[in-house]
Amino acid sequence: MNSWTIFLRRLSTSVSSSSSIRHPSLKRSPLYSTLTDKDVTFFEKLLPKRIVTDYDDCLPYNVDWIKTCHGQSKLVLRPKTVQEISDILRYCNERKLAVCPQGGNTGLSGGSVPVFDEIVLSLSLLNRIHDFNQNSAVLTTESGCVLQTLEKYVEQFGHTIPLDLGAKGSCHIGGNVATNAGGLRVVRYGPLRANILGLEIVLADGTILDCLTQLRKDNTGYDLKQHFIGSEGTLGIITQVSILCPPKMSSVGLGFFSCETFEDVLKVLRLARHKLGETLSAIEFMDNTSLKLSMRYLKKDSGPIKESPFYVIIETMSTSSEHCKNMMELFSTKALEDGCITDGTLAQDLNQYSELWALRESISNGLVSDGYVFKYDFSLGLKHMYELVEITRKLMEPLKDVRNVTGFGHVGDGNLHLNVTTKEYSQTVKDVLEPFLYEWVSKQRGSISAEHGLGLHKAKYLGLGKSLHALDIMRNIKTLFDPNLILNPYKLFPYK
Ligand SMILES: Cc1cc2nc3c(=O)[nH]c(=O)nc-3n(C[C@H](O)[C@H](O)[C@H](O)COP(=O)(O)OP(=O)(O)OC[C@H]3O[C@@H](n4cnc5c(N)ncnc54)[C@H](O)[C@@H]3O)c2cc1C
Repeated sequence: MNSWTIFLRRLSTSVSSSSSIRHPSLKRSPLYSTLTDKDVTFFEKLLPKRIVTDYDDCLPYNVDWIKTCHGQSKLVLRPKTVQEISDILRYCNERKLAVCPQGGNTGLSGGSVPVFDEIVLSLSLLNRIHDFNQNSAVLTTESGCVLQTLEKYVEQFGHTIPLDLGAKGSCHIGGNVATNAGGLRVVRYGPLRANILGLEIVLADGTILDCLTQLRKDNTGYDLKQHFIGSEGTLGIITQVSILCPPKMSSVGLGFFSCETFEDVLKVLRLARHKLGETLSAIEFMDNTSLKLSMRYLKKDSGPIKESPFYVIIETMSTSSEHCKNMMELFSTKALEDGCITDGTLAQDLNQYSELWALRESISNGLVSDGYVFKYDFSLGLKHMYELVEITRKLMEPLKDVRNVTGFGHVGDGNLHLNVTTKEYSQTVKDVLEPFLYEWVSKQRGSISAEHGLGLHKAKYLGLGKSLHALDIMRNIKTLFDPNLILNPYKLFPYK
């Protein structure tokens, strides 16, 4: 029995179900070569002591954060320099070895782990911060830096990263760019895409493409870097990033409010936009089930305010603490008068601020600890946003496997996170949910992925939101940058 057979046997005994079993129509593509001992020797020489081949050591790179995908890679490469990445890709391209780029592995759509035996290219050692230019407020960094590390770094200059999300302690800036991550502050800073000024990318054939400008304005021809933002590792490896970092506001305010109906949540949103104006920096909603799961994860017995069907978290930022406080107080008084909130609390200090935010940021952990999570991330017109959660609840009622149906998300951006949890993976539940949910969203002219990307889970539904011409152009772009299709196969594009 060779080592590959032993590897596969161990994988099938220790991991409940590999990605290829959960996606039975997905077959390993004959386009790709199989890894040989000679290949491993080449990589060992190129990256001494920075390749992983042991089964147990490969496992964390084979399994995604929410444990919905289990790949079968038996080689992980950990380059430290752009030149090493270029050498790796040149070799893989010539040998037709498929590659799965991986950042912090916090992705929620199954894009960051291999499906079959793709080589994992981990970017975690490509983690040097180059410089922060105080005149232009531009940070230039390698792509394997963790988001929170960058946040701390720019803080010393009085600036902030225009992106914040629950996974900030693990996700990489390269992964954020590759997914065009959204998060909690889109309301204030706009999408990540708008703040990325330059990128360096290594293409599939090893070419190093330098688009690493620090300029805010550059109208000379096509803006090539935009193709790589949100490309989920399918067009090239992002190796360096320059990003505009706004000044950090010295004061923050936070309010946690309860609402009786989703219509009231929308009234709160409208009121917050008008009353809080330029101080509004985040507005998030969650339903009662989401808060309960988060509290269970945080081991909290009671919530911050009276129990209610919906909650809204509103954050303000300003250079003046007085201004921040006054605006939030004026807003909450008006919201109570109007009847769109029934209860609320305002953070009195930074401890309370963090505790209240933790309730929102721990929902994903709460869901994962509830069992298997069917996770959806839709962009929808606000009037349809919670309707879909209610429809899903009705659909799930007769199914005994289902534990919880929850809705929460970035209400200011029209981004709903709909989740269904079951004790374990259930094909019956999946068959009721899909393609129904994707088709429903598409009929409302929404998007089947607001911010997590298509990855493996949603790849086959790409066509739902795109015209045939748009799909053709996307395929042409893919083959232009990656003619042998070695980069992150089975992801983003329909695999059948
Ligand atoms: C608790 C929690 C909360 C989250 N909240 C949010 C949220 O609010 N908003 C949001 O948008 N997402 C959120 N996410 C999802 C996830 O954190 C983001 O998608 C994040 O941007 C992924 O970064 P990563 O470094 O972990 O990338 P990975 O998960 O490693 O990879 C994601 C994709 O990018 C590709 N990739 C990674 N690095 C590179 C690179 N250097 N070059 C080319 N391709 C690359 C991978 O192949 C994969 O397709 C959350 C996740 C968790 C666990």
